[in-house]
Amino acid sequence: MSTIDSLPPLREVIATHDLSAKKALGQNFLLDLNLTAKIARTAGDLTGFDVLEVGPGPGGLTRGLLAEGARRVVAVEKDARCLPALAQIAAAYPGRLEVLNADALALDWAAHLTPPIKIVANLPYNVGTELLVRWLTPSGWPPQWQSLTLMFQREVADRIVARPGSKAYGRLAILAQWRCEARIAMTLPPEAFTPAPKVHSAVVHLTALPAPRFPADQAVLERVVAKAFNQRRKMLRAALKGLAPDIEDRIVAAGLTPTDRAEQVPIEGFCALARAVAG
Ligand code: SAM
Repeated sequence: MSTIDSLPPLREVIATHDLSAKKALGQNFLLDLNLTAKIARTAGDLTGFDVLEVGPGPGGLTRGLLAEGARRVVAVEKDARCLPALAQIAAAYPGRLEVLNADALALDWAAHLTPPIKIVANLPYNVGTELLVRWLTPSGWPPQWQSLTLMFQREVADRIVARPGSKAYGRLAILAQWRCEARIAMTLPPEAFTPAPKVHSAVVHLTALPAPRFPADQAVLERVVAKAFNQRRKMLRAALKGLAPDIEDRIVAAGLTPTDRAEQVPIEGFCALARAVAG
């Protein structure tokens, strides 16, 4: 599908609506429409999907999502200064863009979309991890979304896709990979954004699996993982002390070695541990 629309270039949009970037809102805009179209394509086929976008800003990615064929885009933007620019996009794609002037952290987003749903966003860095954790921990599984295509700081992206044995491996990797396929789809240098942030960025693509890879109670697993990585240098038997009576026996029952460190334990091991702690 064509990525060309009849709307003005984004630099012009920013000048017309005086959208000087606000650091407190994590505003680092993407002004290259070829790049925003490429990010939209990373989300796969959008035809027939409702797409949730958090933080559309001046609407570069929004335009990409609509041009790539999203059935409907629901864009949640906290900064009211962006609304006129987004209204212009809504007028160019009648009936396909709904803009909500709201804080994404305070919104019941699912109430505004009809499945099937994909979530695509160049997230504000200050709330990106919080939103990801919420999307990864709904009350039931599979979640209401089929995939997440999200821009993060490179360091956060590395933590999401990290494998056991690496420094980046921890809570985010386990939460993400327990029930999703997760990969880095694209990396971007600071100059890709206006203004340029200090750090490199990456687009992570997560696809929800129909069921968790290994059985475990979500709340127990989260508790075990949080405690194990709270002092990641400690051996499991010390790090998990106080989590349950006879913790060393439970570690062994889970097929793990009490002298292992959290960093070495694969997701399967943490799930076994969660079952042993719950049992
Ligand atoms: N999507 C645009 C792009 O790629 O150029 C802008 C991305 S910018 C990194 C993040 C956007 O999120 C900004 O427009 C900012 O105003 C918005 N934002 C920040 N905090 C938000 C929140 N809590 N809820 C909704 N939008 C938020």
